[in-house]
Amino acid sequence: MAYRVGVIGGGQLARMMVPPAVHLGIEISVLAETEGSSARLAATRVGDYHDVDVVLDFARGVDVVTFDHEHVPQPVLAALVEAGVEVHPGPAALAVAQDKIVMRERLTALGLPIPDWAAVHDAAGLEAFLADHGGRAVVKTARGGYDGKGVRVVSGAHDADDWFAALADGGSGGALLVEELVEFRRELSQLVARRPSGQIVPWPVVETVQRDGVCAEVFAPAPSSAGRVADVADDIARTVAERLGVTGVLAVELFETTDERLLINELAMRPHNTGHWTIDGSVTSQFEQHLRAVLDLPLGDTGCHRPHSVMVNVLGGPTTGTMADRLPALMLDQPAVKVHDYGKEPRPGRKVGHVTVIGDDLDESVFRARAAVEFFTE
Ligand code: ADP
Repeated sequence: MAYRVGVIGGGQLARMMVPPAVHLGIEISVLAETEGSSARLAATRVGDYHDVDVVLDFARGVDVVTFDHEHVPQPVLAALVEAGVEVHPGPAALAVAQDKIVMRERLTALGLPIPDWAAVHDAAGLEAFLADHGGRAVVKTARGGYDGKGVRVVSGAHDADDWFAALADGGSGGALLVEELVEFRRELSQLVARRPSGQIVPWPVVETVQRDGVCAEVFAPAPSSAGRVADVADDIARTVAERLGVTGVLAVELFETTDERLLINELAMRPHNTGHWTIDGSVTSQFEQHLRAVLDLPLGDTGCHRPHSVMVNVLGGPTTGTMADRLPALMLDQPAVKVHDYGKEPRPGRKVGHVTVIGDDLDESVFRARAAVEFFTE
């Protein structure tokens, strides 16, 4: 009988799990938020993931439940486990990814390297942190932030007045996270996959370029990372995966500081934008590996097809029409570029697709990938 995987959330991550599921003969179904979701190519059911009955009913037809995002409430996850459903990653691991303050507490307890941080409840707490950290810091909402929304550089407590007011209204989990403003040379991301039975397989560490808090470009492997940087990043991600009991793909976003340290910024317990290059650049993509991992099947080889893979996001999309309209011209001009269209309506800043170029020369690959994206964003 075929393996059956159910994915909660109908975004592009669920969509990109479909091709490897088809190849491996895995039946994939998706619980999407809306009709016409990015994952509509899969067997999709529309329903509210906050509703226990909806989620339990969805889970009845599958062997394992996994996720396109980390927002499923803990009581819903608990009900799934209670009903005997395999859930990967499990509720305890997901709890750490759902709340940035809980995450800092756990990473601190594990002795892993992270920026200086504090949970602050009011302006006085934030002023005290600023006074100890040179007058500037980064404030983050504990829950619900993504793509840099919920992240703000502040130089006085008044810069976070609106967020403190929202806390007083009972929002954001009772406290704000404040962190030192890290001086970093670049941002990195280390992905690994882990099976419930323990096997862990990493991909090479990559460099990520963020613009306005959104991932814009990824270079794989990260230039000049062979040796210490790769080893430390791999070690950090394995420790996180093992100690937090993560199953499926784990992404660890890192800062490489100007004084040669690697600090953890964020964890994501699902396939991640910084791993999209693996579809075209790695023997096993992050989407295939995630399916293998959550089904507790042996993990695939993560070797690279070519020395360099460059992924560039299509942010916003074309000023008129859709990506599909621009496809023929791009295909004619750049037959070696791999295009990924998420089937989403263009909207300023929205991730509507990405392109990947693999090659022997980094500069050449970067040039071609950027040129390709211009076809979709002009
Ligand atoms: P999100 O969860 O919304 O993606 P992140 O916490 O990853 O937000 O932050 C988004 C971006 O903001 C990071 O990729 C980085 O460029 C910048 N940033 C976040 N925290 C810090 C920090 N402590 N110091 C310096 N820059 C930071």
